[in-house]
Amino acid sequence: MLQSKLPHVGTTIFTIMSKMAADHNAINLSQGYPGFDCFPYLQDLVTKYMNTAHNQYAPMTGVPSLRKRLADKTLSIHDVEYDADEEVTIVSGATEALNASITAVVRQGDEVILLEPAYDCYEPAVRLNGGVPVYVSLNVPDFSVDWNKVADAINPKTRLIMVNTPHNPGGYVWTQEDLNTLADLIRDKDIYIVSDDVYEHIVFEGKKHLPLFSHHELKERTFACGSFGKTFHITGWKIGYCLAPKALTEEFRKIHQFLTFSTVTPMQYALADYMEDPSRYLYLGHFYQEKRDLFCEGLKETGFSFTPTEGSFFQCVSYGHLSQESDFDLAVRMTKEIGVASIPTSVFYHDKRDHKILRFCFAKDDDVLEKALELLQKGIF
Ligand code: PMP
Ligand code: GLN
Repeated sequence: MLQSKLPHVGTTIFTIMSKMAADHNAINLSQGYPGFDCFPYLQDLVTKYMNTAHNQYAPMTGVPSLRKRLADKTLSIHDVEYDADEEVTIVSGATEALNASITAVVRQGDEVILLEPAYDCYEPAVRLNGGVPVYVSLNVPDFSVDWNKVADAINPKTRLIMVNTPHNPGGYVWTQEDLNTLADLIRDKDIYIVSDDVYEHIVFEGKKHLPLFSHHELKERTFACGSFGKTFHITGWKIGYCLAPKALTEEFRKIHQFLTFSTVTPMQYALADYMEDPSRYLYLGHFYQEKRDLFCEGLKETGFSFTPTEGSFFQCVSYGHLSQESDFDLAVRMTKEIGVASIPTSVFYHDKRDHKILRFCFAKDDDVLEKALELLQKGIF
């Protein structure tokens, strides 16, 4: 009998809730993906490259023109330089970037700080590498960082801190003060950072995503992981990237080359052309803010309490003042009884801590959001 290396891991909540939504014909605001398509021009570009013999293995590190676009984008938005050849790698989704980064750093017995609620793919990768997760809870309900708790968790065994800004599920966007505090805490220590920046362009109210690499001390220790899926409405293409200093990228690529070797070719060429016009990603904050505002306006009539999210395409709502039902039970019941699927946020805690908070994805067409709100406004308690 094969002994599980991940005995506590089951099927992801995203798979469970999306299936439940489909089975019950519910509006699926659970798993995070756009309910609308990418722009036709991007599809045309893929077709063009498929039709012109760009169908064999891409270079292991990624198509050069796409790596160059990412380096240029980072320079123009954040004024930070990465060498397109030696410090940028294209991989098969942010999930691969996160996994390869964790694998590059973590050895048997190393401690890894996970800020909870934490996206679900971090912990298994840490464990498979023999690492020991150390859980630090974020403040509820705003999901900001309690730096005293982080300071208490750091010790000589700490090798890595996982960061996610804008945060999934909470939407918290790290501030300059957060970056400075982290830099102070890990200065002169052998600690690395894996930063999950997949919602980098989805930030509201004119705020700016501050990547950890925008702090010069943090840059040297950071693997910055991104995803084209969120930015161009193409989650199904599974293309992501990692920006990291040369020494870190060298180790990252050793893992990547034997994990997937390279990433789907025609899409990479197409994305490189498509990114020529920065407005194709710079509009996202405004685009999703309108959806967030529409959704939040309707939520006011539901009895849930919430603060509009600062970033990402998720809105969390609290219901502890209305009921003590578990968040998982409520998410199931809402899917079956009123036809709206969500994610119970307890799944993002190792101890399934239940703050009575549900997460909704508002990356949907307005009419879908309006229909979902109508159903939610009927009430569930
Ligand atoms: N990190 C976070 C916080 C996410 O929400 C997701 C889901 N897109 C990922 C990583 C994975 O990204 P990808 O689909 O590019 O693997
Ligand atoms: N990132 C998406 C979310 O948080 C899910 C991606 C997945 O299903 N793996 O909903």
